Amino acid sequence: MPHARDKVRLPIFLAISFMSVLMAALTWVCCDAVAATPDFRIEERSVLPMPSTAATRGQHTLTLTLANISGWNEAEIRAATTTATGILAQCGVRITETELLRIHVPESHREFHTSRARELAQALSLRKPTVYFAAGTRQRPAFDAEAIGRGNSRTRPELADTVWIARGARDLGLVMAHELVHVLMDSGEHDNTPGNLMAEDTTPDNTRLRAAQCARIIDTGTRNGLLQAGVD
Ligand SMILES: [Zn+2]
Repeated sequence: MPHARDKVRLPIFLAISFMSVLMAALTWVCCDAVAATPDFRIEERSVLPMPSTAATRGQHTLTLTLANISGWNEAEIRAATTTATGILAQCGVRITETELLRIHVPESHREFHTSRARELAQALSLRKPTVYFAAGTRQRPAFDAEAIGRGNSRTRPELADTVWIARGARDLGLVMAHELVHVLMDSGEHDNTPGNLMAEDTTPDNTRLRAAQCARIIDTGTRNGLLQAGVD
């Protein structure tokens, strides 16, 4: 039945041609979109004044990068940094330099979401530890803040030694200190001893760190290159 076969062949041939055109078009759309770099721009850099620029023997210094990616009030970030600095001082950790960056990122990257956060961290390549001040979180479960150390960043290495805080987090200074301790200790452990900074719930009463916690902060933070030993 050649006649019938011809009738069948024609649509198949047309379909194949159409498919190749469609595939070419999709490939173009796909790869052009992937190649395009999102619009990340550092609009302003400022160094926050710290009480002292040097650490003495027995102290360890920490330099912090604060990335404001969603238009947070900078006075709020400064006040929180002062609180966090005071809390970490009990372990002999001195924040000696804090750089605050105001960064323009597209709407798609203003909330914390692993894949978008990886793109952002990779593109910006900021000094670590970095605290990102985000518009919110798209992670589930949703937390006010998340810390990513070495142990929980194997599948997302760009995010090692970063903290992500969602707008609206209460007790911001305590949250900053708590999350930085997770990063420095490279541990997600909590300590529900009354008054401990690392209690699961962050409250203004939870500010203290035990000697063993301080020791782990210093040991692990130094080993991971996040803390530098001070000199006289
Ligand atoms: Zn925690």
